[in-house]
Amino acid sequence: MTASMVLQLAPIGPLADALLRDELKAVCLWEQEAGWLEAHGAGVALLATSVRRGCDAAMIAALPNLRAISSWGVGYDTLDVAAAHACGIQVANTPDVLDDCVADLAWGLLIAAARRISAADRYVRAGEWKELGGFPLTTRVSGKRLGILGLGRIGGAIAKRGQGFAMEVRYHGRSPKDVPYGFEPSLTALAEWSDFLVVACGGGPETRHLVSAEVLAALGPRGILVNIGRGSVVDQQALIAALEAGRLGGAGLDVLQGEPGAPAALSSRDDVVISPHVGSATIETREAMERLVVDNLRAFLREGRVLTPVLP
Ligand code: NAP
Repeated sequence: MTASMVLQLAPIGPLADALLRDELKAVCLWEQEAGWLEAHGAGVALLATSVRRGCDAAMIAALPNLRAISSWGVGYDTLDVAAAHACGIQVANTPDVLDDCVADLAWGLLIAAARRISAADRYVRAGEWKELGGFPLTTRVSGKRLGILGLGRIGGAIAKRGQGFAMEVRYHGRSPKDVPYGFEPSLTALAEWSDFLVVACGGGPETRHLVSAEVLAALGPRGILVNIGRGSVVDQQALIAALEAGRLGGAGLDVLQGEPGAPAALSSRDDVVISPHVGSATIETREAMERLVVDNLRAFLREGRVLTPVLP
């Protein structure tokens, strides 16, 4: 028997779910009886999943004739890419189409943390503007120094926006790039230089706790951390300790360790702004991401190659 089935591991979104069901006749794993994988796994050629659901080595082993995985989301820390590649399986994610929206949100958090927009909004709603008068002074954004951890597609879009705010930009990564921004080989030195440090790299063991107590100390009591990468990149206990001790100026966080949800030690603070992992969550971008999940499978069926492969 030649494997030809498309298997979907979890709901992705209304558009992708409809296209997968109607055009590619995908089987929804969550609607199947227990034991379905053992009975039918050998018939699966293509897999659709998401960064939320992921795909581990056990799932890959249960699908011996799998040829391509198409995943919704640009992060692939929940996909066992190495296990897939070892079996000759192509893996696709949905990069590029979300860069602008995630960069926009990074800037929203940066400005909201510096200018305390959420706290100011609460101040007005609680009637304190009338009762107590003006809101305390906050921190200037324009003309400051912007440090970026991970100058990839999203980091690059964040850096570009920095020019509109007359900011000098420097970045840290594993290697320097051909860009008009300064490369800083030490993350601690970058933090020391920065007024704002934006985390824009992915998660996984390699980047775990890169933003350590030492890096936060270098960012300092007037420095602001923004994280739109992954919660695991920041040592969250060290972040809480630095904020509580007044050793860090504030934080804007779209991603957290242990999400969904945020510890009260962060969510109760006026110098912290938190959004619920919504970097790409606009109607336009989510639609583009859903289309790309299906386009990757269509391209594989047509030409044997996904459009946006995750490289080894
Ligand atoms: P990308 O183009 O691959 O960029 C990632 C950057 O991280 C690269 O420039 C890389 O630079 C750097 N990097 C990787 N490993 C590193 C390490 N060990 N130390 C320092 N830097 C490292 O990816 P992207 O499309 O910009 O996406 C970045 C991440 O954003 C995703 O992986 C995802 O986790 C996150 N994301 C979040 C949201 C959200 O809703 N908040 C949405 C989309 C994506 P070098 O190769 O030079 O090291």
